[in-house]
Amino acid sequence: MKKTSYNVSRRTFLNHSSKATLALGIGSSLIGSAFLSACKGNSEGGEEVKSLLSTGFEQTPLGYAFEALEPHIDAMTMEIHYTKHAAAYAKNLAEASTEEGVDVNKPLEEVMMNISKYSTKMRNNGGGHYNHELFWKIMSPNGGGQPGGDLGQAISGGFGSFEEFQKQFEDAAKGRFGSGWGWLVLDKDNLLKIGSTPNQDNPLMDISDFQGIPLLGIDVWEHAYYLNYQNRRPDYVSAFWNVVNWTEVERRYDTLMKG
Ligand code: MN
Repeated sequence: MKKTSYNVSRRTFLNHSSKATLALGIGSSLIGSAFLSACKGNSEGGEEVKSLLSTGFEQTPLGYAFEALEPHIDAMTMEIHYTKHAAAYAKNLAEASTEEGVDVNKPLEEVMMNISKYSTKMRNNGGGHYNHELFWKIMSPNGGGQPGGDLGQAISGGFGSFEEFQKQFEDAAKGRFGSGWGWLVLDKDNLLKIGSTPNQDNPLMDISDFQGIPLLGIDVWEHAYYLNYQNRRPDYVSAFWNVVNWTEVERRYDTLMKG
């Protein structure tokens, strides 16, 4: 009997907790409500957040040539990555969306935040599509350097220095066993956090141990670097700093903090 009541209360707890997780635990914060209302298509005050942070279900054109990130990321890797790997995630996401009745006119973020309700196919391919769409945007041939503005200050304040931030981010990316992603996110308390996720999971997903809104992500699947770097993932991770589009990452941060 005792066990039953434990189970009931645990179920009640899980029910409440999954609702909180559904909102990434940020539903009551300013950024959370702006983000969520934008995700729900509520135009009230959330247009900028929506345009910056709402991901569609189809592949968007790459904003630069395949060879533009050389020598840090080679043209062949970029071409195969974009036209084969990422394209396959988008195609399979479209299939899964049809099969599971998802409205593809809604932001993909909404599916990510409720991913526990969908199939493994949705999780892998929706995550894969979301992650890559972000990845292409936060890289640029004119990238590199250090972030300025409020993000630059938040990074220095939160991690001690830009160099210490880089070290922690590199450690997360290098330390992810097997395939996955390293992340810089804004968490529910508006703090910057570094972490990683396995496979094509991401920090928006309600099933993820590491939660937040992605600002910067690095793909550490072997397909992202093997042609040029072979087993030397650390070299690829170090080279990544040369192509980070801090302007875009700052825009994401500023928009969320403003929202
Ligand atoms: Mn990839």
